[in-house]
Amino acid sequence: MKIDYHMHSKFSADSTASMDEMIEKAIATGYQEIAFTEHFDLIPEEIEIYGVPSYRKYSLAIEEMRRRYPEISILKGVELGEYHLCHKLADAIMKNSPPDLKIGSIHTLSNGKNISIPLTFPLVAEDIKDYYESNLQLVKYGDFDILGHLGVQNRYLTKEPDDSFVLHIVKEIFSLIIKKEIALEVNYSGLTKPLADLIPTTKHLKLYKDMGGKLLTIGSDAHSVESLDYSYKKTLHKLLNLGFTHFSKINAEGWEQIEI
Ligand SMILES: [Zn+2]
Ligand SMILES: [Zn+2]
Repeated sequence: MKIDYHMHSKFSADSTASMDEMIEKAIATGYQEIAFTEHFDLIPEEIEIYGVPSYRKYSLAIEEMRRRYPEISILKGVELGEYHLCHKLADAIMKNSPPDLKIGSIHTLSNGKNISIPLTFPLVAEDIKDYYESNLQLVKYGDFDILGHLGVQNRYLTKEPDDSFVLHIVKEIFSLIIKKEIALEVNYSGLTKPLADLIPTTKHLKLYKDMGGKLLTIGSDAHSVESLDYSYKKTLHKLLNLGFTHFSKINAEGWEQIEI
């Protein structure tokens, strides 16, 4: 079974992809289930730059896509940036028609700098610490299904930085998500960026596995038709090499493990 739980369409401010084209590509490349995960970054710094999409229009568009493409399962997902800081607003917007899947992710440091886009500043130790501490706060809040792209800032670097000084925070994040049954996203957008590694990196995925982590979702983080499916096979090979044998599918009852 082929699944992608992270993709954006024109409902996200940083994508112009048409839902139809994304779905048609997913069907043509053999997916049985996909989730659109549009950005709902509802902290003031992000709203000011990117605005807020209409959740109502997004929900209606998903319903229309399900009618148009019954041959594939289409989930209504959201990627909630800094969710722990804006859950009241996000939940109020989504309350009448809850999403099928929620990714929690961190895009912005405490100082307001966005670290999920090509970096325009040198990443210093303080930024790295701030980033993982925000992720820890996010998973402590925890009312979401998937922890998205942990270590996203690394994808724009040519070499993985020495982040051993935050290892204790990464371990705490992993132990909490394992306990709360929040899946760890394997985001393969990093493979086509300067770092050329998965996000989280191989090193952190190995740590997650050693700590007993089993729930993994696969996400292209595609913002265009071209990047959908681009490194899917490569990602599965890398996971097998790391010793993972399954990835995860979300159901109404919880997680189901799918053999790689
Ligand atoms: Zn993101
Ligand atoms: Zn995304």
